[in-house]
Amino acid sequence: MALVATAAMLAAVVAWHPAEQLDPVRGAIGLGAERPLPAPAVVRAGGAYSWAMTQPDSDDPVGWDPCQEIRYRVNPAGEPPGGRALVTEAIRRASAATGLAFTDEGDTDERPFPGGVRLFGRPDPVVIGWGDQAEYPDLAGQVAGVGGAVAQRDGSGRLELVSGSVVLDVEAFTPTAVAEQPRVMEAIVLHEVAHVVGLGHVSEPMELMYADNTGQVELGPGDREGLARLGSLPCG
Ligand SMILES: [Zn+2]
Repeated sequence: MALVATAAMLAAVVAWHPAEQLDPVRGAIGLGAERPLPAPAVVRAGGAYSWAMTQPDSDDPVGWDPCQEIRYRVNPAGEPPGGRALVTEAIRRASAATGLAFTDEGDTDERPFPGGVRLFGRPDPVVIGWGDQAEYPDLAGQVAGVGGAVAQRDGSGRLELVSGSVVLDVEAFTPTAVAEQPRVMEAIVLHEVAHVVGLGHVSEPMELMYADNTGQVELGPGDREGLARLGSLPCG
């Protein structure tokens, strides 16, 4: 089916590395902080998962501070009918799998992947939007979306994710595709959100984090374990 083929390929993670000299001021914020949501159970089920980023000289993952909410905004430009529901549901599923809290801060006219992030003061919220390959060359070919996160050093020198972006290809997220294949399209959004929270690709086709979408609409066992581990990191 051409429709499925169009939506088939999912993109690699894109990660920025902020300038070293921009030290965050977040160290003092986390003292005594509590998780908004409980940590998820980590179930070892033999699946495959990988991290989008690891700590320097370590295999430990880089993830979000689970005591902070992940703030996000949606840019409605190019959004297909039904598109917002895909985003809302993908975020809900990512939150359930990680125990990380997300806060919708409303619509924005900022574009995903602005090429930088404000690190003086509060980091920018995650921006989720729709775009085409003229604006985002990474969307060329069969790529239906790109997701990535921004890391910065916390007070103890560990990297943590503080912002990110998802751009969804308007050529894949057509009104017809969203109407006829909503679960497949939602799974693509969830795959990209999983990059934002810190998962990388795996070579196991039964996982949603396989680089190509094979029609998989549910998280696999490795996806679930990896997301639970990312949501179980210590508070910053
Ligand atoms: Zn991907």
